[in-house]
Amino acid sequence: MFGAAIADRLAGEGFGVTLVERAEPGHTGAESGGESRLMRCCHGDDEMYTRSARRAWELWRELGDDLLVECGLAWFARRDDGWESEGERVMGDQGIPVERMSPDDGAELFPSLLADDLAFVLLEPEAGVLRAAAATRALAARARARGARLVRGQARPDGAGAVVGDRRLDADVVVWACGAWLPELFPDLVKLRVTLQPIAFFDAPAPWHPPATPAYADYDGANYGVGPLDGHGLKLAVDVDGPPVDPDRRPAEADAQAIAQARLALSHRFPALADAPLERSKTCHYSITADMGFICDRHPEHNNVWLAGGGSGHGFKHGPAFAERAVAAMTGAAPPEPRFALGPRTAGRSLRTAGWDPG
Ligand SMILES: Cc1cc2nc3c(=O)[nH]c(=O)nc-3n(C[C@H](O)[C@H](O)[C@H](O)COP(=O)(O)OP(=O)(O)OC[C@H]3O[C@@H](n4cnc5c(N)ncnc54)[C@H](O)[C@@H]3O)c2cc1C
Repeated sequence: MFGAAIADRLAGEGFGVTLVERAEPGHTGAESGGESRLMRCCHGDDEMYTRSARRAWELWRELGDDLLVECGLAWFARRDDGWESEGERVMGDQGIPVERMSPDDGAELFPSLLADDLAFVLLEPEAGVLRAAAATRALAARARARGARLVRGQARPDGAGAVVGDRRLDADVVVWACGAWLPELFPDLVKLRVTLQPIAFFDAPAPWHPPATPAYADYDGANYGVGPLDGHGLKLAVDVDGPPVDPDRRPAEADAQAIAQARLALSHRFPALADAPLERSKTCHYSITADMGFICDRHPEHNNVWLAGGGSGHGFKHGPAFAERAVAAMTGAAPPEPRFALGPRTAGRSLRTAGWDPG
């Protein structure tokens, strides 16, 4: 997604672009594959990521009306002074629609919701769900419509250029946006934790389907979910950091323990779905930086080479805004974002939907 978004942006600004992908944009083995990703602006007290998400929301809507399902997103706040109240303040300051609801009023948003352990519910009415693989493909398709060339192949760095098969590619700017594969391409520059993340899908009847029902996130409880969309069941993800994984060797399905944890989260919050049949499970991988922030910086030895990634489990929604910022840095229109710099980082608070790791 980051690579397709940058290609799209560069092509839109009139640059000649070659997009190299070893598979297909949005393929299932990529971190950007699959059916859905949350699109929300709340990032606790982090003003930069909040603003980025809102800008991306505008840009996603420009890309296509069927890519974002604006069903809203409800944050289940377990305390008065946490991530959600900070987010409410920052979103309010930035003019982003947000509504604080009592637990009882919040419960009305869902066919069944256990809210007695909640301090309040924070609704982002314009948030929702991105159709992930379709959105990635749409970015790549628009890049091509704007003149970009798509080359299928495995690229490897070669000084200031790239080699794909037996061809060398040189360019004024070379961007490596290779997700979880960045560390093996640039071991001295990029450190990422690549983790295995399970997802479970449960059968849920029509009232649970978005846009009738919002997506949700339980930051202190480290889980999130989306009602059935496009024929997939209700998606529930326990969002704690999974074990390390080789992104090329992910198991196809979640293990029994992960499914049991998902069912526990489901039945705790939505008692009516306690016995909902498991439709299927799958896995994905995160590529996590030490501070959970993204990477977009120049290679220290090659002025024309840039590294972009480190989505850290929350990058998708930011894609087009990240690309806008990245291209501005690459063309000298704006300075690079210091928080995206290569080099050591201090461990930071989670910017995902998981503030607490129940272990
Ligand atoms: C389970 C799960 C849930 C998530 N939920 C959310 C969410 O709700 N909201 C959100 O905003 N984000 C979410 N994310 C995070 C988000 O999906 C990622 O941050 C984002 O997709 C990362 O995109 P990327 O472009 O960096 O990586 P990728 O999508 O992996 O793209 C990298 C691409 O590079 C290609 N590639 C790699 N090496 C080479 C090479 N040498 N030559 C050619 N091609 C190469 C790969 O084939 C791949 O297509 C979630 C992630 C997961 C796994």
